[in-house]
Amino acid sequence: MQVIHSIKEMQQITKELRKAGNSIGYVPTMGFLHEGHLTLINEAKSNNDKVVISIFVNPLQFGPNEDFDAYPRDIERDENLARNAGVDYIFYPEVGEMYPVDLSTKINVTKRINVLCGKSREGHFDGVATVLMKLFNIMMPDRAYFGLKDAQQVAVVDGVIKDYNIPVELVPVRTVREEDGLAKSSRNVYLTEQERREAPELYKSLQKASQTIFDGEKDLDKVKTAVINAIQEKTSGIIDYVEIYSYPELEEIKEPKGKIIIALAVKFPKARLIDNITFSI
Ligand code: AMP
Repeated sequence: MQVIHSIKEMQQITKELRKAGNSIGYVPTMGFLHEGHLTLINEAKSNNDKVVISIFVNPLQFGPNEDFDAYPRDIERDENLARNAGVDYIFYPEVGEMYPVDLSTKINVTKRINVLCGKSREGHFDGVATVLMKLFNIMMPDRAYFGLKDAQQVAVVDGVIKDYNIPVELVPVRTVREEDGLAKSSRNVYLTEQERREAPELYKSLQKASQTIFDGEKDLDKVKTAVINAIQEKTSGIIDYVEIYSYPELEEIKEPKGKIIIALAVKFPKARLIDNITFSI
């Protein structure tokens, strides 16, 4: 496995890999790898000749009061995990390599962003789309793997790929969880012991909500209120949002029908956690 810092070198490598007839599976990450990332890497390994990942905490997708500086980073640990998982190349650029000057163009995501994280993190998905446009041109993958834990991101990236005719296949991957149901996240290390004990309640409340809908509940406000009440009663977190939409359109629905998502974001003092459940009814 090689760690590459320069865009030019990485592009040269991916060009040569493709010329030699290799298919490339790509996993974009912000590092501090966990089993969620490793599942994406495994998927990429099973379906491609070569696996490349990027580790880049992208300043463009963080708001001024968010955790860009505090985001956990540990490249040595990541290198070991990636090597053991069979990654061929890690692209690990400095911020100055990716953004040596102010960009003269930025992607402005226009659909599916007035809800969920797009609403509470202004400009976040513009930053995600812009960095991915750069990364796709550097990594030149056949397939790119994204986790459904970030379901809105999957929907937005699908739009970017289609809008700009990027020759890459988006592969969504199921959410990987701890044994108690908490979605794996690099940010989980910032939970206190007490918060960590409370955090599985997020997924439990989503499961209960989906069960109520399967059992015939049609009133989605009632379902949302039950989730909000459970989180408020059983955790010390502050709810950012609990919403139910159609998926992947992320449009409001009057009653459960077709594929839907129940999504939430809850803020603990040092970690904002997101989770969701999608299902068809
Ligand atoms: P991140 O490093 O948090 O930006 O995540 C990189 C990729 O891994 C994104 O596509 C995430 O959706 C995905 N990912 C993060 N956590 C999980 C998880 N628990 N299960 C599945 N995929 C995940």
